[in-house]
Amino acid sequence: MCGIVGYLGSQPAHPILIGGLKRLEYRGYDSAGIAVLEDGQLCIEKKKGKVADLEALIGDNQYSSTIGIGHTRWATHGEPNDLNAHPHLSNNGSLAIIHNGIIENYGALKEDLNQKGYAFKSDTDTEVFISFIEYIKESEGLSLEDAVRIALTKVVGAYAIAILSSDEPDKLIVARKGSPLVIGLGKDEFFVASDASPIIEYTNEVIYLEDEEIAIMQNGEYRVINTSDDSQNPQIQTIDIELEAIEKGGYEHFMLKEIFEQPKSIADCMRGRLKASTGQLVLGGIREYKQALINAEKITFVACGTSWHAGLVAEYIFEDLCRIPVEVEYASEFRYRNPIIKEGDIIVAISQSGETADTLAAIELAKDRGAIVFGIVNTVGSSISRVTHEGAYLHAGPEIGVASTKAFTAQITVLTMIALRIAHLKGTITERRYNELLVELEGVPDKVQQALDFNDKVETIADLFQDAKNFLYLGRGYNFPVALEGALKLKEISYIHAEGYPAAEMKHGPIALIDENMPVVVIATRDSSYDKVVSNIQEVKARKGVVIAIVTEGDVLIPKMADFTIEVPSTHEALMPLISVIPLQLLSYHIAVMRGANVDQPRNLAKSVTVE
Ligand code: GLU
Repeated sequence: MCGIVGYLGSQPAHPILIGGLKRLEYRGYDSAGIAVLEDGQLCIEKKKGKVADLEALIGDNQYSSTIGIGHTRWATHGEPNDLNAHPHLSNNGSLAIIHNGIIENYGALKEDLNQKGYAFKSDTDTEVFISFIEYIKESEGLSLEDAVRIALTKVVGAYAIAILSSDEPDKLIVARKGSPLVIGLGKDEFFVASDASPIIEYTNEVIYLEDEEIAIMQNGEYRVINTSDDSQNPQIQTIDIELEAIEKGGYEHFMLKEIFEQPKSIADCMRGRLKASTGQLVLGGIREYKQALINAEKITFVACGTSWHAGLVAEYIFEDLCRIPVEVEYASEFRYRNPIIKEGDIIVAISQSGETADTLAAIELAKDRGAIVFGIVNTVGSSISRVTHEGAYLHAGPEIGVASTKAFTAQITVLTMIALRIAHLKGTITERRYNELLVELEGVPDKVQQALDFNDKVETIADLFQDAKNFLYLGRGYNFPVALEGALKLKEISYIHAEGYPAAEMKHGPIALIDENMPVVVIATRDSSYDKVVSNIQEVKARKGVVIAIVTEGDVLIPKMADFTIEVPSTHEALMPLISVIPLQLLSYHIAVMRGANVDQPRNLAKSVTVE
């Protein structure tokens, strides 16, 4: 959600900014813009639409400035149009800002500034923010740095900002609170971005700015202070993301690449952690608070979107294997409903980006009340990985497609490993079942590959349903969250209305929707609810619904009743979501491509939801 880039050094900033914005496109946005200081003058180019539209606007006008900022906006305050696009100038035009986040008290600030004669061109909170900084600077005769610092103590909300000033044309100031911001350290040059992807082609030395920190860059040097003006000592980290990991590598879309990467990403997730032949299961990030997990009377998972579905799968696994009651909460609901959290309670936060605003707020709430919080996160160095007590990275590699695929399977893999480890330590699993599950889990990457081998068949089926108006997804037990995830994938990228339901619940409502125009995807793999699901398929067929069934290879019964079947290899039912989700990811992908939708950047969606 929203992308920030900045550059200060000796190279022309303009191509670095545009290149950086392209790397951040995956985050989701609706307009783009840059500001550079050309001969001491602030020049702004901004445009509704894609970075390509911004490039067309700029045309041959290549700026030579060596300092600049760029932004992809995901509108919160004011519709996506040219005027509301960032950067925004302050009232007298001397300051330019790009901003990710929301200034919640912007209304009061705007009214106050209006009374002082300030005028505003846009509807954004951001324009108020920069004029407020200008007001503090001018009225109190402060330096830009002090004005920014004092303004930050007076605004309420979340921000990652970068500011340029025509009065101090060799200085770049950035700050963050609640929204991510990374500074790349080159040789006498600085790269700023919302995440590391625009930076890694230039340097692997980075600083992740902490909340309420401000970095001032000038003349090849940088300083970091906090809002109380105390000097900070930021840690320089070396990141090891390969450039290929954030490029399409011959695939038409990032989403397809990431779907096909899953045999590897699941294996990477287990690498060094699981070795079935010796019964080894090591999770370095679950060490200090291991006993708290073993003794837990309840575990609460907090997450949003696809991560919430991974939490639902984990609910089945933890209750089944560890015999610990589990609740799975939407972070956005949890944080606002005065949840009952006692000292020492266990919260597990799940987030691909590690920056999800609602999940971060839920973590803070839980920590304030004395909970022990674990983070299950993909992005190394992200906010959630830093604010949680312990946790485990997914090691799935960067996920660029907005619709999450490989992060979902990696989340389930990590959570399964944790559940197995705790169950083993607790003694709620027999040695035999433990070892069987380790062997089965280790074999999942190969089985995911076998499921991917049915891609052509899935594509053929997708072709028949590309014009459908609605879809229903049904599953039971471990496959119920998979039904939810399948429906979400389809909605996200193809814009077809879809609902996921527990198969038996269909009778309590959705069955009324079934007729010959309703495709019903049923996850009907061989497990303890197989016979029940077979009955549910009969119920759909009796009402002329069109059934697309995901079945275990070799199934001879369901192909006789379903209209279409897609086979997946068999595995233990607790691990089946890792495999049964694959054809559903492919189905939504192919339908979206056939409908001409923008698969990697679906409308209105953002990859990393950094506003609540
Ligand atoms: N609240 C700001 C706006 O609507 C920033 C949104 C963003 O994070 O892109 O312009």
